[in-house]
Amino acid sequence: MSEVKSIAIIGAGTMGAGVAYTAAISGIKACQIDVMPEQLEKARAYHAKTLGRMVEKQKMTQEQADAAKALISYHGDLKEVADVDWAIEAATENVGLKKKIFAGMRDVLGKNVVLATNTSSINISDIATAVGDAADRVIGMHFFNPVPLMKLVEVIKGLETSEETTERTIELAKRMGKTPVPANDRAGFISNRVLMPMINEAFYAWMEGVAKPEDIDQIMMLGMAHPMGPLRLADLIGLDVCHHIMMVLHTELGQDKYFPCPLLRQLVTAGRLGNKTGIGVYDYTKK
Ligand code: NAD
Repeated sequence: MSEVKSIAIIGAGTMGAGVAYTAAISGIKACQIDVMPEQLEKARAYHAKTLGRMVEKQKMTQEQADAAKALISYHGDLKEVADVDWAIEAATENVGLKKKIFAGMRDVLGKNVVLATNTSSINISDIATAVGDAADRVIGMHFFNPVPLMKLVEVIKGLETSEETTERTIELAKRMGKTPVPANDRAGFISNRVLMPMINEAFYAWMEGVAKPEDIDQIMMLGMAHPMGPLRLADLIGLDVCHHIMMVLHTELGQDKYFPCPLLRQLVTAGRLGNKTGIGVYDYTKK
């Protein structure tokens, strides 16, 4: 098994930008791809700012930051980086879109390239149907937000995923400084199967006036030793992402307890998606 030297990261949003940064500081070439030029620019600014901060805090030398920066490139089309030896899809959580991207990855990239997805909730085996006989190279490589800080990578094997793909994924996750943990290919895997109903319940508690958002969050932080309250975390993840995952759990697992809270749905409809829009449960524009 040859060492991974370059990764195409498809999607330059919250997660894709974090994955590219983490790859680069691990000495791996990171090719950041997005269909939206402004997302590529945002990712570029995020990389520069984060590396700058690391130098300021003396966690990295200027030379190390420059070397990492030089390893990241930005592209509008996967065809520009067809020679990469790994791919991680981190585009919008939509099954039709992901299948289209996977079919493109199979057509454009080499025959040994692992096709990983960062999906939070979509069935890996379902995504793999888009690539025909390359399904053995499809795997879930689920990073957590913020990627540079969070140690976990949930590794999810689809029905057709080969042992070799799994072993190589575990190896790459470790090389990127993460701890890979396996989970089976069921809706929400483990992380979101447990986390999202808790977040959803926090929205119900807020909607029913049991407590204010600040107090719900503080109770979970002080009483349950969570580093961040569930509503603050929902803003960080993106309320649209949370809503979408609840819909997937509801559809796939077929139980009413997974139905998204109406208040969560209302905020999403109003465009209050959390940190990325400046306002969600909390208003970040006033700071
Ligand atoms: P995001 O909305 O911040 O970014 C998604 C990006 O995908 C956007 O920049 C968009 O322009 C891009 N995109 C859309 N179609 C594309 C295409 N055809 N080709 C290339 N790029 C395309 O979303 P995100 O929060 O970064 O989530 C990305 C994935 O990671 C989703 O599958 C999500 O479920 C998963 N995830 C999210 C979190 C989180 O906390 N946000 C955590 C773990 C996993």
